[in-house]
Amino acid sequence: MSTLDNKIQSVKSRLKKEFLADTRPWVVTFSGGKDSTTVLQLVIEMLLDLNEEQKKYKKIYIVTSDTGVEMPIIEDYTTDKLSQLQGFIKNSDLNISVNLLKPKVTESFWTLLLGKGYPSPNQTFRWCTDRMKIKPATNFLKSLTEKNESILMLLGVRSDESQARAESIAKRDENHRGFSKHGEIPNAFVFSPVKDWTNADVWTYLSKNPAPWGIHNDMMKLYDKGSGEADCNIALNPEAASCGKTRFGCWVCTVVSKDKSMANMLRNKEDKWMLPLNNFRNKLEEYRYDHSKRQPRRRNGQKSVGPFLLSVRKELLKELLSIEQELIALGKMGSKKLISDEEIAQIQKEWLHDGDFFETAITLAQSVDRLIDYESVKSFDETERTYIDSICQENKIPTKLIEDLMQKEHSYRHQIKRTKIFTEMENLVENFANGIVNEI
Ligand code: SF4
Repeated sequence: MSTLDNKIQSVKSRLKKEFLADTRPWVVTFSGGKDSTTVLQLVIEMLLDLNEEQKKYKKIYIVTSDTGVEMPIIEDYTTDKLSQLQGFIKNSDLNISVNLLKPKVTESFWTLLLGKGYPSPNQTFRWCTDRMKIKPATNFLKSLTEKNESILMLLGVRSDESQARAESIAKRDENHRGFSKHGEIPNAFVFSPVKDWTNADVWTYLSKNPAPWGIHNDMMKLYDKGSGEADCNIALNPEAASCGKTRFGCWVCTVVSKDKSMANMLRNKEDKWMLPLNNFRNKLEEYRYDHSKRQPRRRNGQKSVGPFLLSVRKELLKELLSIEQELIALGKMGSKKLISDEEIAQIQKEWLHDGDFFETAITLAQSVDRLIDYESVKSFDETERTYIDSICQENKIPTKLIEDLMQKEHSYRHQIKRTKIFTEMENLVENFANGIVNEI
């Protein structure tokens, strides 16, 4: 028996022993990457060796994170894998559920960036990971620990991944069963069955052993296309590499100065269609550091560079929707969307607070045939809008100027000192007279 065969047998018998040792449910985190796939496959192979009664001894939860801004080809791959898994679980009558964890619509990337104007995340203001990955995972795990006395999380982390990973594994305070406590979730324990496996062990195991739910060729092809080391193994994994250093992060990620995995993929002829996404991501990064794209105050009124201007957010949403149309025309989107209907509706709610009285987000979406289920809360209904238009026409004043002036007034609504509002309104009028587009 080869050393790897020994390792495989040893992990499987350990898994079997732990599986039958208590009733606490297992949570297997699955990113679709090689390490989490290895752990999941070993767990399922172990289960298939059990008798029918033992197989149902405890529930296993497979959990995967979906930020809503995953790279489209990764999203396709993950969707495929999860559906293969679901089919296999159903046919094999296993006590396993597959769970896709998503951020709340109020905390999604687009709601925060386009809706509230958060500047694109960077190393010093990385607002995304917590909301898009950590919170959904924590909420899910907490709900499990509330229903059960305790849970065991099985992670695909390995000492061989990096020096930092080796150190963090070595620092773990493990109990007599080799489990360590999850730092954030009370009553959750962590177990890494392949922590001593090398990279070569993982690849050899996967290439010689197709998963019970399907072959690994698609995963290997993805790894071939990208470069880098770690999977974005999500917040479910308390020892995950920080996002941004990961192999396949979000396509919008501006925490890394260059999206290497996207750049590598763009070298392949068949992946060139993702270029508009990469350009858009670069624009998000560029705008973040361009103070003319941001309000001169924070939302709390403090004088400092603030959220993206509403006009910039409108421009970005328009461009995002147009890229989506381009990709749909190329047949690259399937049933996916770059931004969901719920996010657009939420963005509109946020924009209303910022003085977008005419529901521009909804109008932009409708202009590309996105039918958003949105209960209009326009400050002005169609009759009022027509009335405003007619007064403007009568007085030869562009409606857009009136909209801008109302927005400006609205932006001062919480401020005690309003002395500057007059100058700013004068500037708006002057700019209009000079044909300059106002940035609000
Ligand atoms: S990959 Fe980048 S954008 Fe996505 S959560 Fe991590 S840091 Fe944020």
